Amino acid sequence: MKCESVRLNLSLYIEEELEPLVRKQIERHLRNCYSCQSELMTLANTVKIIRKVEAAQPPRDYSKIWRRSINGEAL
Ligand SMILES: [Zn+2]
Repeated sequence: MKCESVRLNLSLYIEEELEPLVRKQIERHLRNCYSCQSELMTLANTVKIIRKVEAAQPPRDYSKIWRRSINGEAL
């Protein structure tokens, strides 16, 4: 699996919404790819922050915050 495909699926991976087969492929890739590992850490932290913000604010801010975080961290 390519880094690109892994990264596209990382948020689903964090949410545990991937099919088991895809999940296994990603886990295998992550074991060997440091840059995707750190990408996962960043994304996991972002999700944590978003959940905190979500709990404190109305849901309409969700997509804006999410998109901004992705653009800022992943590209
Ligand atoms: Zn990678």
